[in-house]
Amino acid sequence: MEKIVQTAGRAALGEFAPDFAHFNDDVLFGENWNNRDIDHKIRCIITVVALMSSGITDSSLKYHLENAKKAGVTKAEIAAIITHTAFYVGWPKGWAVFNMAKEVWNDSDSAAAAKAAHEAQMLFPIGVPNDGFAQYFVGQSYLAPVSSEQVGIYNVTFEPGCRNNWHIHTASNGGGQILICVAGRGYYQEWGKDAIEMNPGDCINIPVGIKHWHGAAPDSWFSHLAVEVPGENTANEWLEPVTDEEYGRLE
Ligand code: MN
Repeated sequence: MEKIVQTAGRAALGEFAPDFAHFNDDVLFGENWNNRDIDHKIRCIITVVALMSSGITDSSLKYHLENAKKAGVTKAEIAAIITHTAFYVGWPKGWAVFNMAKEVWNDSDSAAAAKAAHEAQMLFPIGVPNDGFAQYFVGQSYLAPVSSEQVGIYNVTFEPGCRNNWHIHTASNGGGQILICVAGRGYYQEWGKDAIEMNPGDCINIPVGIKHWHGAAPDSWFSHLAVEVPGENTANEWLEPVTDEEYGRLE
């Protein structure tokens, strides 16, 4: 379980109420939310129930509903939790929380539908969350090995807005990377040059030593085959993330 870090207190009240901000970020979230004596998902549910019971249905409830969804609370579970709690704390509170929960869980339904639609128009599978390389990506990517012998070929899928950090493929001889778009729409950009749009069938050859990134368009899923060109001492040198400002320059 990743350590929970919260900075909302300092962001909102750091100047006005530095002690409150400190207790919020360092004690409530920094220490208490990281306590492992109860399961994280249960802690999220308790928090939603506590806010609902108090009649708090502002942005903090929305935050904690989203948190609960991230912790794995399903639509069926949140519906049962709100229904159960409504008997004890008041029917109107149930209505208020349901209105907000519908937004949070329906968003995830439409995201899942968009992912399924993307996968349906592609020969290759989306595969599994690309956790091994997540630290070098902004947003969620997925990885499906196509060939893991002779020449490594991987289908890499990026959700809308997802891109990898600036990076350089290195080798003492040979090496480099070939990208072939297989579904959706995305971009390839070399340092100091305009981004190149990639659509299904488009192929990009990336020699060693070239600083670049690749990823999805802001409004489209994107998949490319990444072909690892064989070479000696091949490696990736991962650099800084593509900032929102750099990414925002795409048309
Ligand atoms: Mn690359």
